Amino acid sequence: MSHDLHSHSWISDGSLSPADVVDRAAAAGVRVLALTDHDDTAGIDEARTMAARLGNIDIQPGVEISVTWQKMTIHIVALQVDVRCAALQQGLERLREFRNWRAGEMGRRLARCGIAGIHEEAMALSRGRIISRTHFARVLVQRGHARDMRDVFRNYLKPGKPGHVPGEWASLEEALDWIRAAGGVAVVAHPARYDLTNTRLRALLGEFGEHGGKAMEVISGSHSADDIVKMARHAREMKLFASSGSDFHSPENSWAQLGRLPALPADLLPVWVDWEAARV
Ligand code: AMP
Ligand code: MN
Ligand code: MN
Ligand code: MN
Repeated sequence: MSHDLHSHSWISDGSLSPADVVDRAAAAGVRVLALTDHDDTAGIDEARTMAARLGNIDIQPGVEISVTWQKMTIHIVALQVDVRCAALQQGLERLREFRNWRAGEMGRRLARCGIAGIHEEAMALSRGRIISRTHFARVLVQRGHARDMRDVFRNYLKPGKPGHVPGEWASLEEALDWIRAAGGVAVVAHPARYDLTNTRLRALLGEFGEHGGKAMEVISGSHSADDIVKMARHAREMKLFASSGSDFHSPENSWAQLGRLPALPADLLPVWVDWEAARV
């Protein structure tokens, strides 16, 4: 069975509707898809409706939670959550409020260095949904302030750059509490992308484990072959279940396409072999 347990729709910073993400995943041979928009579960119903129509793909209700850990932004993918859980929804609502404030602040900071009007355009692009740095990035590229997405993040949107506003997201403990309350599985998203030393990554995974987390992504659209070898080693060492997801955002501009993922190393325990054991 082909699993893709990390994907985005236009509910957050993806470019396709939830239905189109499901359609595209099914066509690519994915049989179990987790829709994991940033800080919002609003796309799940539409994804489920489409999956029921297609009949050849299962939808896992998920969300990618923004976390601040040691002043860094870390992402925790929550899988198999009960989206009706009040504790989870209240937590996500708080993160969305911070997002909205941050977007205004990003706009003010960019204006101060001579780039005006970006917040308004980014809001229009996000169509009243989650507003993300991705929306700012697309506008800045469109306006010719950067060549491509990589460039715009590097020059404007990363820590230390003019449009960056430090995150004030959930703590690791809060995120895991919400996921536990919602009966879900917590997964450290794309762990190789944080540029942590082995020692700090072990500290993150250790703390995550102490709060009840049991899985990490080993395969991610944003992991290189070398990253996969390294992350597999961490999963073994920390005795974590392994997950696999494309982190799909759009057909044009994505870490990876839906369903085009290498297999997990054979000795690891995939999170889907025992969902019950992997819950927080
Ligand atoms: P936010 O959660 O609003 O801070 O935005 C983070 C999002 O920006 C991530 O989920 C990615 O989709 C996107 N992103 C981060 N870094 C890059 C990059 N270097 N190139 C393209 N997209 C990026
Ligand atoms: Mn994103
Ligand atoms: Mn992420
Ligand atoms: Mn993601």
